[in-house]
Amino acid sequence: MRRPLIAGNWKMYKTTTEAVVTVQQLLPLIKNAAHCDIAVIPPFTALSVVAPLLRDSNCGLGAQNCHYEKEGAFTGEISPAMLADLGCRYVTIGHSERRQYFKESDEWLNKKLKAAIHYGISPIFCIGELLEQREAGQFQTVVGSQVRAGLAGLTGEEFSHIILAYEPVWAIGTGRTATPEMAQQAHQFVRNLISQLYSWDQANRAIILYGGSVKPENITGLMAQPDIDGALVGGASLDAQSFSRIVKY
Ligand code: PEP
Repeated sequence: MRRPLIAGNWKMYKTTTEAVVTVQQLLPLIKNAAHCDIAVIPPFTALSVVAPLLRDSNCGLGAQNCHYEKEGAFTGEISPAMLADLGCRYVTIGHSERRQYFKESDEWLNKKLKAAIHYGISPIFCIGELLEQREAGQFQTVVGSQVRAGLAGLTGEEFSHIILAYEPVWAIGTGRTATPEMAQQAHQFVRNLISQLYSWDQANRAIILYGGSVKPENITGLMAQPDIDGALVGGASLDAQSFSRIVKY
């Protein structure tokens, strides 16, 4: 069956010292959690100090973004090869903040997914609609097109390394969460689409996380849904206590 993943996206928070303290607080709190995979996704600057702390722990390391080239004249960018070298197991690709504020296109995201997989890193590929798109009844068109464009040209083998994260943009950092039923409907839609693009076998094995104001108070209801396989947690992952409560949903 599908093994859930609870991943904490720290966004642009925490100095290296703060990151180390958070991980030192977190690891003892989650050390007995064997029911799911766990990951923290610090900013680039903290990856190399957090990596040795996570070695031999039950918590994996992820990065928040990467370029699609191995190296080159791309000032300010970080390559997937560099992330692999640091021991990153995951990288978020297409987070709505990257799509919205940094204008990352579907074409770029598609290249990034392929590049991350090539370097042995599992992409956490984020998809989700804006509030006005949901209200205009465009959920399926928008999310469907993000999935199709992001996965264009990826083989079934490549797809098997991808983790999907459905994150309705109106629920990210706003305190508004999709109800478990709304999230379930969206996840079911995505899983159906994967079955059309690949096969039911692949769709049934695909991990689809929910993200958007996940907290210790709402994780249980979300995880009770049959198509929700974990969570991508922003704000509530910054505090070790609150993230550990989510891990122990
Ligand atoms: C996120 O950063 O992916 C996220 C879902 O943030 P938050 O949990 O703060 O809404």
